[in-house]
Amino acid sequence: MQQVNFSAAASDTQRPIKKVVIAGGGTAGWMTGAAISKLLGKNLEVVLVESDEIGTVGVGEATIPTLHIFHRLLGINEQEFMAATNATFKLGIMFENWLQRDQKYLHSFGFLGKDCWACGFQHFWSKAQQRGIAREIGDYCVEHLAARQGRFAVLPNQDLNHAYHMDATIYAKYLRKLAEQHGLKRVEGKISEVQQHADGHISALKLMSGELIEGDLFIDCTGFRALLIEQTLNTGFEDWSHFLPCDSAIAVQTKTTESPVAYTRAIAHPSGWQWKIPLQSRVGNGMVFCSKFMSDDEAKALLLANIEGERLIEPRVIKFRTGTRHQHWNKNCIAIGLSSGFLEPLESTSIHLIQRSIVRLLQMFPSNGIQTAEVDEFNKQTQIEMHNIRDFIILHYKATQRDDSKFWRYCRDMAVPESLTHRMDLFAQSGKVYKFAQELFGESSWIQVMMGQGILPAQYHPIVDAMSDGELTDFLGTIAANVQKTVQNFPTHQEFLQYYCKSAIV
Ligand SMILES: Cc1cc2nc3c(=O)[nH]c(=O)nc-3n(C[C@H](O)[C@H](O)[C@H](O)COP(=O)(O)OP(=O)(O)OC[C@H]3O[C@@H](n4cnc5c(N)ncnc54)[C@H](O)[C@@H]3O)c2cc1C
Repeated sequence: MQQVNFSAAASDTQRPIKKVVIAGGGTAGWMTGAAISKLLGKNLEVVLVESDEIGTVGVGEATIPTLHIFHRLLGINEQEFMAATNATFKLGIMFENWLQRDQKYLHSFGFLGKDCWACGFQHFWSKAQQRGIAREIGDYCVEHLAARQGRFAVLPNQDLNHAYHMDATIYAKYLRKLAEQHGLKRVEGKISEVQQHADGHISALKLMSGELIEGDLFIDCTGFRALLIEQTLNTGFEDWSHFLPCDSAIAVQTKTTESPVAYTRAIAHPSGWQWKIPLQSRVGNGMVFCSKFMSDDEAKALLLANIEGERLIEPRVIKFRTGTRHQHWNKNCIAIGLSSGFLEPLESTSIHLIQRSIVRLLQMFPSNGIQTAEVDEFNKQTQIEMHNIRDFIILHYKATQRDDSKFWRYCRDMAVPESLTHRMDLFAQSGKVYKFAQELFGESSWIQVMMGQGILPAQYHPIVDAMSDGELTDFLGTIAANVQKTVQNFPTHQEFLQYYCKSAIV
């Protein structure tokens, strides 16, 4: 691909934004296209360029509950969306063999027990655990128990905090339809040249056909290629692979052989981990691994030995680098999706980060020209979010007790960011955990993963001692009984899916 500087227009910072060009039509491109055209399309021209020849990364099928917010913005009906995208419900992630082999724990999307003003539920649970009167911590959480028992319901008043497993290719098509209804113009073709003004701002994308697509604001959704933000603007990349050493994946789809569970399975292996994402009629499978410790062929053999059902596609290898662009917004280009950086899919956070960047862009949309302070703010907020999620993902690797392979020994012994060390120490010493403003993962998430990874608090908050053992037993018993009563009235996940998707008006 060539880069050409051809125009000497005046500084772009004062140029009003009348036309947005989105480069790339994967999940990031179409989420961005659908949102901008629906919410700002009346006053803007929106064009999306995608290449059928290049295609998309074709993975990214597990989500987290924040997707509801995005769907509400777009006015997407849940039943219709689920029926259209072969989707199932997701209540969390089951981590298997992460602490030790043959051990598993669930990170559910639910809230654990009941907090009091001074301390979180984990303090009550810790004392009960020490007294031998506690049940499994997940028994105090509706989502946790429902996921383990294979039950699900959408409740009118007390909705389960849920996300979805969905077909990524169909999702992009679904969003395309929506975007085109709101006036977005799609252009098929391969970008061969990115043209720039004299001040370095992007002025146009030139396609192989010779067609020139000019614009005022460019969104780079070209995936790992990062055609605009990196190949053209040389924005730079902060590499985090020393913290998150996996750099490869192999993906394959199989036919469904059993009723779908309402959680993603993340199964640790000697040099990485395997995902199983159950859709209604097929399963997305993959192996994420570190090429320093396992070859592509070994990973492929291990993956194929651990999947069930007829294979629907040939296994595909995907190479990636974990880290973040130094700037996600540079000049008149904003990187959204894989072009902006990548955190491996262990906690299904990439689609969430796409959605966050879209919402942030809509909130800071530079209609009257690009202002440096706004660009800086956008970049600052994006980096904070990425850093917090990065720490949460590293936790799963660092807090392992596995020492059966070089990979796990590396993870156990590696230096981690000070921000994470502090959180782990604070929890281990005092049972305390705090969520930063705007942070994605809340206290219940940190607690479930820290405990699941073997970090148990040495102390509980003294306010818990205001309760006698009898009162503590009653307090916990009432919560667990209510959770059980709620869940036992739910239909199975499979029954609910059938009812819900069949009654959708597609
Ligand atoms: C192994 C793996 C597993 C993942 N699992 C999850 C998950 O479970 N949950 C989650 O939230 N996220 C997951 N992700 C991330 C998720 O897949 C991506 O965030 C999401 O698919 C968005 O990708 P994208 O649109 O940025 O890139 P892509 O899908 O790669 O799309 C890039 C687009 O740019 C176009 N393009 C590129 N170059 C050109 C050119 N020269 N001319 C024209 N068009 C061009 C392509 O044709 C394509 O349309 C996973 C990622 C990986 C690697």
